[in-house]
Amino acid sequence: MQVLKFGGSSVANSANIQKVTDIVASAIQKEPTVLVVSALGGITDLLLKTGALASQADETYKTVLKEMETRHLDAVRELLPIQQQSATLSLVKQQFNELDGIYDGVFLLGELSPRTKDRIVSYGELLSSMMISAKFQSLNIDQLWVDSRKCITTNSNHGNAAVDFAATEKNIQSHFAQKPHQLYVVPGFIASDVNNNTTTLGRGGSDYTAAIFASAVRASALEIWTDVSGMMTADPRLVQNAKPISRISYQEAMELSHFGAKIIYPPTIQPVMSRNIPVWVKNTFAPNEYGTLIENNSAVTDSFIRGISSISSISLLSLEGSGMIGIPGFSKRLFEALANESVNVILITQSSSEHSICVGINEVDSAKAKQTIDNVFSYEIQTGKVEPLKVESGLSIVALVGEQMKSHPGVSGKMFGALGKNGINVRAIAQGSSEKNISAVLSAFDVKKAINVLHEEFFETSYKQLNVFIAGTGNVGGKLIGQIKKQFQYLQDELHLQIEVVGLANSRKNLVNENGIDLGTWKEQLQQAPDGSIHDFVRTIISKNLRNSVFVDVTANAEVATVYGSLLEKSVSVVACNKIACSSSYESYLKLKSLAREYNAMFLFETNVGAGLPVIGTLNDLLRSGDKVNRIQAVLSGTLNFVFNNYDGSRSFASVVKQAQEEGYTEPDPRLDLGGTDVMRKIMILAREAGQQLEMDDISNEYFLPQSCFEGSVADFYDEMEKQEAHFRSIYEAAAKQNCKLKFVAQYENGKASVGLQHIPAESDFYHLYGKDNLVLFYTDRYPEQPLVIKGAGAGADVTASGVFADILRAR
Ligand code: ADP
Ligand code: ASP
Ligand code: MG
Repeated sequence: MQVLKFGGSSVANSANIQKVTDIVASAIQKEPTVLVVSALGGITDLLLKTGALASQADETYKTVLKEMETRHLDAVRELLPIQQQSATLSLVKQQFNELDGIYDGVFLLGELSPRTKDRIVSYGELLSSMMISAKFQSLNIDQLWVDSRKCITTNSNHGNAAVDFAATEKNIQSHFAQKPHQLYVVPGFIASDVNNNTTTLGRGGSDYTAAIFASAVRASALEIWTDVSGMMTADPRLVQNAKPISRISYQEAMELSHFGAKIIYPPTIQPVMSRNIPVWVKNTFAPNEYGTLIENNSAVTDSFIRGISSISSISLLSLEGSGMIGIPGFSKRLFEALANESVNVILITQSSSEHSICVGINEVDSAKAKQTIDNVFSYEIQTGKVEPLKVESGLSIVALVGEQMKSHPGVSGKMFGALGKNGINVRAIAQGSSEKNISAVLSAFDVKKAINVLHEEFFETSYKQLNVFIAGTGNVGGKLIGQIKKQFQYLQDELHLQIEVVGLANSRKNLVNENGIDLGTWKEQLQQAPDGSIHDFVRTIISKNLRNSVFVDVTANAEVATVYGSLLEKSVSVVACNKIACSSSYESYLKLKSLAREYNAMFLFETNVGAGLPVIGTLNDLLRSGDKVNRIQAVLSGTLNFVFNNYDGSRSFASVVKQAQEEGYTEPDPRLDLGGTDVMRKIMILAREAGQQLEMDDISNEYFLPQSCFEGSVADFYDEMEKQEAHFRSIYEAAAKQNCKLKFVAQYENGKASVGLQHIPAESDFYHLYGKDNLVLFYTDRYPEQPLVIKGAGAGADVTASGVFADILRAR
């Protein structure tokens, strides 16, 4: 004998029931079969809802009831040949008439007792099983409908009745001792107490019914048929990459289901485990897939963590007080008090100092728990030995399950390390003494993220997803998106890194797609995206709470530079091409760096100096490896290089600047470049990275622009430059006379920084510097005479984008 159970989605409609019929028809070829079925998908919820409506004297229950009736009648018409329909149609109608009668009573009395609720919901499984039995009848299969209420005896705890196993076994065995049949069709979920009142086994209880039958008939196997291909490493609705677990032990399956894996109702495992009956979890909609085998010994696999599950709506109760130390019996009283109120304890932790006990319970029980515990400890509370019970709600439990974790040290370290790195705060931790699970209590807000983080950590060690939000879709942003798109496959194949751009914002629009924006059509999508500010964008990033989030600022906007702190605080890494944040006050620069450290996020801004050149990274490497930077000399402005490489007095200085602007080498207001501000910012950032506390005011700048150039608009500036042509020519000629070139050089030495135009002789490193190239010289303890040289293009959208891209990869 074998037992097959089909859940609500498997029997949701006639098309699905047809699939069930096929599977069962082939199963009975092998051996006699007990078929346990749930109500048609969604019907249990609807029955409870209509019951509640009726008890509130809300007549709309009638409409819903009618819809349910139609759904069942339609299914019968679709399932059975027309000449065989009438008996089953009248049977269905008769059940609905009975239900009508019960609802009338509820409506009139305005009362819905747990006992009546059980009566009402039982019709879900009664109807489905009768219809399915009729279907097999129509196929001339030797089958018998078995009333599980006559088989399973429970106490009278309606809604969640406890099974009397001795009586139940006897009932079932005597039932099956009669003339044997090929197939027995059994309604799941329902049972009855000794007074023949209908009871139910708890939501999801059809699994349990099947296990009870399997155990009583000593089945060769129990098969749980559902809508996924087995027990999976995590709830597939929460984790996209969840994979079926092919083999798992009873203990592990029990642990996973206890901690929320809805796929199996927790009490199900016990009865089959005690008889060593193997359990298969299979997919009705993909019957050829392997599924999961639950049995005594879990196979040794390379993963010592079997799965991750979670329970929502948890409250954490903390009983604390110095009066608890060393006094036995406190916990006993606590747990007795909870047991007396039928409060189910899901998780327990006790700190080693013994002056606090923490238990996790279902949120719905928290008010009752608070009342009873404060009552039981009223004397200790009054005398100040114990504080009134603390209740914290809005929490969830996430559990890591695996029998073999006990032989693998460091699991919890890895678990909490991964959670911490993603800014997930853990409120309480419990590790069962059997070491089959580690569970953590955390905010409900963080659950999805936590499960994904842990899944990635334990099941996708060779694979990681970065969730990237980009602010700024101009020149650099556009190039960056192009580069990410082009490299996507390579990074996935070679680095096992999946870079998903999940958010894009420009100055007007916010485009967010958690599953990754299609980078082939981002422009069109962004155009159609809703309006939103940078602050809206940040709010979305924070509320989405995705793991491994990276915010990328490829704007030059001051407002965007203000949001980094609020992101770092949520452990979102920040990659900034924008120089404003790092070159604002030293205090706020330091604050961002310390926030990044505190919240385990990265704050990277390599492109602030020398675009894609590895300037800051090299400096950091030198310092980290113990070197000391004594002097920095650098040409850091592509703009000024361009201008002085092209100006020789043959045409006006203003026209050369104009050309630089037209070719995209200057800021919108070229005075930021020509006045040296941009270079000052860069040398200041380098000095700060080298450990120097420096402000813009501390940097000396020998302006070569006459003061009059700084007045008025950009257009005025060009006019003024034309007027000052003689000044520029004299600067040029003074240098040319000495066979020198003009370079705008930034220096840092002995804690002081300066910028200014210098005469560069032919033997200098700076002499042969063409186009928009930058050059940085680091003189350090290890490079005392011959400096470490970094040279190359220091401007341009492509190289800047690639520098930003490299930072994004570093932020993982
Ligand atoms: P049925 O109606 O067949 O009893 P359930 O809805 O009770 O089915 O359980 C199956 C569902 O359980 C799946 O659709 C899936 O969404 C959910 N689920 C939660 N955790 C897991 C897990 N670890 N493995 C597989 N499914 C899970
Ligand atoms: N129909 C019941 C429920 O929805 C039992 C089950 O499907 O397992 O809870
Ligand atoms: Mg179920």
